[in-house]
Amino acid sequence: MPNPSEQSSCLVLENFIGGKFVPCRTHIDSYDPSVGEVYCRVPDSGAQEVEAAVAAAKEAFPGWSARSPEQRAQVLNKLADLLDANVEEFAQAESRDQGKTVTFARTVDIPRSAYNFRFFASSLLHHTNDCSQSDHMGCLHYTIRCPVGVAGLISPWNLPLYLLTWKIAPAIAAGNTVVAKPSEMTSVTAWMMCKLMQQAGVPPGVVNIVFGTGPKAGDALVGHPDVPLVSFTGSTATAQCITERSAPYCKKLSLELGGKNPAIIFADADLDRCIETTVRSSFSNQGEICLCTSRIYVEGSIYSEFLERFVAAAKKWKTGAPSDPGNDNGALISKEHLEKVRSFVALAKSEGGTVHCGEGVDQLHLPERNAKGYFMPATVISGISDSSRVMQEEIFGPVTCVSPFDSEEEAVSKGNGVRYGLAATVWSQDVGKVHRMARKIQAGMVWTNCWLVRDLNLPFGGMKNSGVGREGGKDSYHFFTEVKTVTVKH
Ligand code: NAD
Repeated sequence: MPNPSEQSSCLVLENFIGGKFVPCRTHIDSYDPSVGEVYCRVPDSGAQEVEAAVAAAKEAFPGWSARSPEQRAQVLNKLADLLDANVEEFAQAESRDQGKTVTFARTVDIPRSAYNFRFFASSLLHHTNDCSQSDHMGCLHYTIRCPVGVAGLISPWNLPLYLLTWKIAPAIAAGNTVVAKPSEMTSVTAWMMCKLMQQAGVPPGVVNIVFGTGPKAGDALVGHPDVPLVSFTGSTATAQCITERSAPYCKKLSLELGGKNPAIIFADADLDRCIETTVRSSFSNQGEICLCTSRIYVEGSIYSEFLERFVAAAKKWKTGAPSDPGNDNGALISKEHLEKVRSFVALAKSEGGTVHCGEGVDQLHLPERNAKGYFMPATVISGISDSSRVMQEEIFGPVTCVSPFDSEEEAVSKGNGVRYGLAATVWSQDVGKVHRMARKIQAGMVWTNCWLVRDLNLPFGGMKNSGVGREGGKDSYHFFTEVKTVTVKH
């Protein structure tokens, strides 16, 4: 397998349609964010390429959906094994393409991508359907579930292979065929995985990957009449376009969107654990995880102590060359994104906020080779009003804001005071309080005294502007199948 991280000449990707690599006539430049240079050219696909991919997926559907779940599971397990066997090449490539550290890609992105296949290979074998009796009418009712057909899958740039496989795995495990479009900014590992698809014996047309931009390739996929279902992970603004585009066809949609996630820290929290975890939840993957904490509300009596200790811990969070195992963070995805994230820090300052560490306060010491990369240190801000754009909008970078609260009611109202509702963390040793908070906080996921501990069997997704629908074991199975109720009278 080619290792993109070692290639000096420009890497040129091809679409994967009907089990074959198909060159595209036009391309988009893709940057290595840690050096700020183009290193890869991604197909700039449009309606024609999407049409070919959908046709291949339609052709493959009858054969693939007729296989037994066990036969499909074997292929998924083989893919998982192949990803595990190539973890280093994939981790290097993900890091180069996305800017994240190699360590993060090696320990999070790629192992989780392999696990997505392994999990859904197994999970699919364990679902049961419903049955009920109406003896007085001589009837038995039961449900059956059928794959939907060609699934359209669209994924973002922050966890490229991780989130793409989170969609491909349940879709094909349930018997669908897919046309996937990864982010145009991070397409390399998806392209590398196509080779593994061939090796794993994924039949031609079961997984098709079309590379390109959202408004061109993504729009053609969402608007294709033969794609009855779209699973999308990305921004709330794009989800609104997708919803409108698919409305005339009444498509089934799963939308996993942005967040502005609060951490609510009560005075009785175990502060050592809380600070260590909240630094991680604020800054992991450069703060480019939809679940990252970006608003930290701290009970007044411990506010000063928390702020001092939290800033000291954030200052130890190291940012630099992604290949250096001593670094916690690498580069942000793009120059434009770095500028956007910085503009929020500037806005916070202009509104009288205090920047305790990071942007404009601490100097990064980067190797010469990374001087033009898109780096930004972990930044902690306080003194911002809850109505500020800094506290309301998703920044999606290594920036977090700290603010005090006085009562449980105030914590709930501050936590819920944004249009998003993806995830929250609550810190307290009072079991009654954490249960109460979990019920009152408007978020699809509430972690108490921890963060990002996942059981893939349970639902993942957001409320309010953070999404529609849930994914995970049973929820993904339900989304990627159509249920029918059958009544038999005897
Ligand atoms: P984005 O919405 O810009 O792009 C996501 C994907 O949609 C890309 O593949 C893009 O090419 C495509 N796209 C863009 N416009 C399109 C259109 N008109 N039609 C069809 N496809 C289109 O998001 P992004 O900047 O890549 O990712 C960051 C966002 O994703 C953040 O808001 C983050 O919170 C969110 N996110 C959410 C989750 C979750 O599970 N809830 C996970 C990761 C990221």
